[in-house]
Amino acid sequence: MSIKALKGFKDILPDEVILWQFIEKTTRDIFHRYGFEEIKVPILEKTDLFVRTIGESTDIVEKEMYTFVDRNGSSITMRPEGTASVIRAYIENGLYVRGSVQRLYTIGPMFRHERPQKGRLRQFHQMSVEVLGSNSARIDTEVMAMAWQILQEIGLQASLEINSLGCPECRPAFKEAMQGFLQGRIGHLCDDCQRRSTTNPLRVLDCKSEHCQAQYVTAPSIIEHLCGACRRHFEEVKQTLDLLGVPYAVNAKMVRGLDYYTRTTFELITTELGAQGAIGAGGRYDGLVRQLGGPEVPGIGFAMGMERLVMLLGQKKDGLATRSVLDLFLVTLGEEAYAKGFVLLQMLRSLGLRVMMDHEGRSLKNQMKQADKQNAGFTVILGENELANREVLLKDMHSGAQQLVELTPVFEDWAALIATKIRQQ
Ligand code: ATP
Ligand code: MG
Repeated sequence: MSIKALKGFKDILPDEVILWQFIEKTTRDIFHRYGFEEIKVPILEKTDLFVRTIGESTDIVEKEMYTFVDRNGSSITMRPEGTASVIRAYIENGLYVRGSVQRLYTIGPMFRHERPQKGRLRQFHQMSVEVLGSNSARIDTEVMAMAWQILQEIGLQASLEINSLGCPECRPAFKEAMQGFLQGRIGHLCDDCQRRSTTNPLRVLDCKSEHCQAQYVTAPSIIEHLCGACRRHFEEVKQTLDLLGVPYAVNAKMVRGLDYYTRTTFELITTELGAQGAIGAGGRYDGLVRQLGGPEVPGIGFAMGMERLVMLLGQKKDGLATRSVLDLFLVTLGEEAYAKGFVLLQMLRSLGLRVMMDHEGRSLKNQMKQADKQNAGFTVILGENELANREVLLKDMHSGAQQLVELTPVFEDWAALIATKIRQQ
């Protein structure tokens, strides 16, 4: 019996990869325009890193982590998200000495043992950023404006929801209010929420059960419990979002699935992917670096889920999903033409063109078919006659137009001539 991929793990085939590349290229370019630098961190980390940062009574840590004991008996986890690893690397490598504010991004796979559904996988990919070293509300706005710009340039629509989760100063009062509220309804809540009503009452707001959510409609609002400093911070976030013309809505029930957030949190939501509507999310985590043994450095970050972006884009832009275009297919007939063609092929590639030829000695008709299949923009036919007459036929495969191109004695000149003609189109 043939071996299949694991459940929730997906092959990304060439036709779809075109969308991935487009999204990644656009996003990287925007990250660079906003002054971000790339960092690459390992996929495996000590389990403790995630338990201590994401929080013990979160969905990720309680149910979703790929954790195993390695050959040395250490508990290892395949990263479920990027922030914890980037912060660990930031501290371990002393990146804070490079400058007061660091802007880092990373792109790669994440692993969560969830129930696979459309837009929800066990291996998925995130593009994520972290800004370390500033607690300014304007940084929050800049980061959200950047996320917004990414969606605009990719050509997708979503709404931005924001909230503030306060700080260690104002959180206890809200926690108490929540506990009081939950006590009166404890019998109506799911098992998870019942447990969390004492261990981590904020978390209940993140529950996926509609029944629980119906109970929380009248829950206390965290925004009404913010201390003066957090309130001012949130006001400034809203004012500067207005200043930049980034549309948003305040959602006081959004708590996010990780414990490390403080103050600003946000989500980018679409209605076009059913229940998997969150395409990106993030927030501020002012205590996290300190908590992991680093200096007192505030931070903020967000992650976008690539699979969901690809799905949205795939629904919209069929044109992008066509196979990549080959600039030229080089058709050769006969031994001598094949040998010359092979050299020419390499020269054209060195000049930056995407070129292929046939190595199997196929017929003219067959080679033309291949050119068609590869969606080649042009073909050149090089055979004995062409070598004798010192000219070849360059055919534009889309318009059908043909032109004779002189086969100059110096091969490099000839390659350059063909390249120029193709680029002129
Ligand atoms: P959700 O509410 O959908 O479970 P989340 O709050 O767990 O999302 P985050 O941890 O904030 O998600 O991750 C940021 C983004 O990564 C999400 O907005 C989503 O686009 C993507 N993402 C998260 N989990 C998955 C998954 N299992 N499969 C595909 N994409 C995912
Ligand atoms: Mg989740």
